[in-house]
Amino acid sequence: MDYGFVDCHGHISAPEFQQGLPDVIHRTRQAGVKTLVAVTEGMEEFSRVLHLQERYLDLVAPCLGLHPLQAAGGQRSVQPPDLEEALPLFYNLRERLVAVGEIGLDFTPWCAPTQQDRDDQMKVFIGQLDVAMEMDLPVNVHCSQSHQRHHETAREIQRIPLDHICLETDSPARGLHRNVSRSPTFLRTDAETTVLFLPPSA
Ligand SMILES: [Zn+2]
Repeated sequence: MDYGFVDCHGHISAPEFQQGLPDVIHRTRQAGVKTLVAVTEGMEEFSRVLHLQERYLDLVAPCLGLHPLQAAGGQRSVQPPDLEEALPLFYNLRERLVAVGEIGLDFTPWCAPTQQDRDDQMKVFIGQLDVAMEMDLPVNVHCSQSHQRHHETAREIQRIPLDHICLETDSPARGLHRNVSRSPTFLRTDAETTVLFLPPSA
């Protein structure tokens, strides 16, 4: 059997990767990554991620989803009309998807300042969970851990069976090194770091 890594959550359709994409893909394969689960944040990204699936059929596994924060029209909370507009695409493209995502909640004060914003995010999150259930697809929910919770996270990792751990780079999001944009090639280092936290018997 041909083993390899799966990057469970990355933004390969992000503008940061547009330039030099063939090189990123080449280095990703060299790092041993066999599947890139490619999430979207907004509708404007849907066609790009599907195009990447056509171009790298053996590597890119697309998800469609509306992130709680939408970049279109300035940084704002997602709203129910956004989901209404996206819904037909979810259903039409069902056969090409591996999950619904990136979805979730983000109550960063300057992006979701009002109760209305938070209620809208919740409605869209629940709406997408319903769609995923209806289409029998998993969801890709992103939860960013703050630096202070690092040790807590490490303790939690030790309680999880090895075959239940999924790794993701969330590339091109920046990690602990704020000046370095991540790419899917970081998955190998992430895997090596995770192994350090595992109990010796795992
Ligand atoms: Zn993400």
